[in-house]
Amino acid sequence: MKAVRLEATGELRLREIAKPVPDARELLVRVEACGICGTDRHLFHGEFPSKPPVTLGHEFTGIVEEVGASVRGFARGMRITGDPNISCGRCAECQRGRVNLCVNLQAIGIHRDGGFADYVIVPEKQAFALPDDLDPVHGAFCEPLACCLHGVDLAEIRTGSSVIVLGGGVIGLLVVQLARLAGATSVVLITRSAEKRRLGKTLGATATADPGDSDIVERVISQDGLLPGGADVVIECAGVAETIEQAPALARRGGTVVILGVMPQGAKVTIEPFDLLFREIRLIGSFVNPFTHRRAAELIASGAINVEPLISRRIGLSEAIEAIANPARPGEIRALVVPHLG
Ligand code: NAP
Ligand code: ZN
Repeated sequence: MKAVRLEATGELRLREIAKPVPDARELLVRVEACGICGTDRHLFHGEFPSKPPVTLGHEFTGIVEEVGASVRGFARGMRITGDPNISCGRCAECQRGRVNLCVNLQAIGIHRDGGFADYVIVPEKQAFALPDDLDPVHGAFCEPLACCLHGVDLAEIRTGSSVIVLGGGVIGLLVVQLARLAGATSVVLITRSAEKRRLGKTLGATATADPGDSDIVERVISQDGLLPGGADVVIECAGVAETIEQAPALARRGGTVVILGVMPQGAKVTIEPFDLLFREIRLIGSFVNPFTHRRAAELIASGAINVEPLISRRIGLSEAIEAIANPARPGEIRALVVPHLG
């Protein structure tokens, strides 16, 4: 079978490798689609630890081709989405129920072979069923959606809450939709591209703003701004210093800030502790998808989340290397690898 292998930092190759064999508790899955995410680019550049040689791709969906002898919940022919993050179940964090913080966390597509390939091995406990009639490319959004769900859960959005989303990439545009589903009545999307702001509105943002060059914080929270006094919840989905620094200032007194965006390890930003204290701002990090993958699969299966406009292009395995090794194209939201395209 064909697989996109990270051989070493900066070295991706399309290789012919042996089709893997599932063990007793695993599924062999024929990949239908696998999203290219910023993490794949970080892995390529060595900015995120991995274990080469390894097949990349952690946002995959596909059809079960073979099941291990002890598998009970799945049969050949079923469509599944895989939760790539495998926790050990034994460490102190796992036993506290904080499985995303597992000290032995192993991810499919990072530490073990992933979905930029004709086939991928998925442990049964990491698989969740999807409907037969779903567009398979939509199934590839379960993983990013599950990460967004965790962030939105941590934000504790309530009916009538006001929410600001910083950054209109795939994560921001999924968070906008989840915030509305969670009951927020005002959702303001702040992102630079006019096209993403337009899309944000069609997906549920009640208002949008261009961070532009004048002070965006002042423009949003001033008395005649979009959310005078600030938002109940601010969700940072851009992963740049500027937006992380803006986030607490955009929250109202007693508000909550959730950081979903990833900055490079070791990067620093300036935060005013007095402001966090004096206005009791809750500042929370949100990491991957603890126990949210099933709900994400259900949301995608039901059509409650609109992912079609987030799909920028479908490419074959042979085009995946160029797409991973380079930044996303201008205006691109999500490129998806569809192995049967070649
Ligand atoms: P992305 O496509 O790069 O989206 C980020 C968006 O932020 C860009 O599209 C950009 O849109 C916007 N942006 C950049 N600078 C901005 C600024 N100064 N003000 C406002 N918006 C700005 O990435 P993504 O796939 O959506 O992911 C977003 C972040 O979440 C990344 O850092 C990713 O690594 C992270 N992530 C975290 C988790 C987790 O578990 N926490 C899971 C998945 C992804 P404009 O050009 O329109 O400004
Ligand atoms: Zn653990």
